[in-house]
Amino acid sequence: MYDVLIIGAGAAGMSCALILGSAKSKAFAKDRRIGLIAHQRTSHLQTALFNNVLGFTSGTLGADILKQGSDQLTELYPHVDQIKNEKVKAILRIVDGFKVTTNKNTYTSKTVIVAVGYTNLMTIEGLGPYVEPHPRAPAAKERIWLKNEDHLVDDGLYVAGTLAGWRSQFAIASGSGAQVATDILTLWNDGQDAHVHDKTQG
Ligand SMILES: Cc1cc2nc3c(=O)[nH]c(=O)nc-3n(C[C@H](O)[C@H](O)[C@H](O)COP(=O)(O)OP(=O)(O)OC[C@H]3O[C@@H](n4cnc5c(N)ncnc54)[C@H](O)[C@@H]3O)c2cc1C
Repeated sequence: MYDVLIIGAGAAGMSCALILGSAKSKAFAKDRRIGLIAHQRTSHLQTALFNNVLGFTSGTLGADILKQGSDQLTELYPHVDQIKNEKVKAILRIVDGFKVTTNKNTYTSKTVIVAVGYTNLMTIEGLGPYVEPHPRAPAAKERIWLKNEDHLVDDGLYVAGTLAGWRSQFAIASGSGAQVATDILTLWNDGQDAHVHDKTQG
């Protein structure tokens, strides 16, 4: 069973995975099983071109960010399982967490973070009761969110990125994924604030 399974590997999901992975040296995170359903085919990053994101050279392609993010996770934090080429069909509650069914496999996890974007094409069984019209996007676009408070949808179930109700900007989606990651780390740390900083020597 995973301790946490992130669903979707776009701006929010990949940022969340990188921060959770980066906590590996902390005692409270050491033996945690972390998984990322690394489906990227329908990410809005696939067609995005970035000139307005701090840290990205102007002209950065979203498609390159998707590949680089996955490579970075593999290289630095290989203990995070990247489950590729699988699309989630259902997230159903079980006694001690959730059963997540993809088009190929079934996984169980104590905690689930849904970061699949805000398109109304999202039809994952089990999420229906939480789906509402997106609070910030124009009604004509028919975007959706999972109703949440501070990213928490229900016990053990989190949402991140545009599906959490945020506007569609890379930094916002990525920051939302980072926020959820530190919320999970804080929980693992018995409620004491937790975040991960690397620093230069000297
Ligand atoms: C054309 C375009 C240009 C843009 N330009 C800019 C810009 O200049 N500046 C800026 O700041 N922002 C820009 N954006 C917005 C930015 O790309 C989005 O805000 C950001 O990608 C949203 O992140 P997200 O994680 O919420 O969703 P996404 O990045 O879309 O990620 C969702 C992920 O979930 C996966 N997924 C979906 N369904 C499932 C499923 N059932 N099972 C498993 N995985 C699933 C998808 O494959 C994807 O990887 C642009 C977007 C587009 C479309």
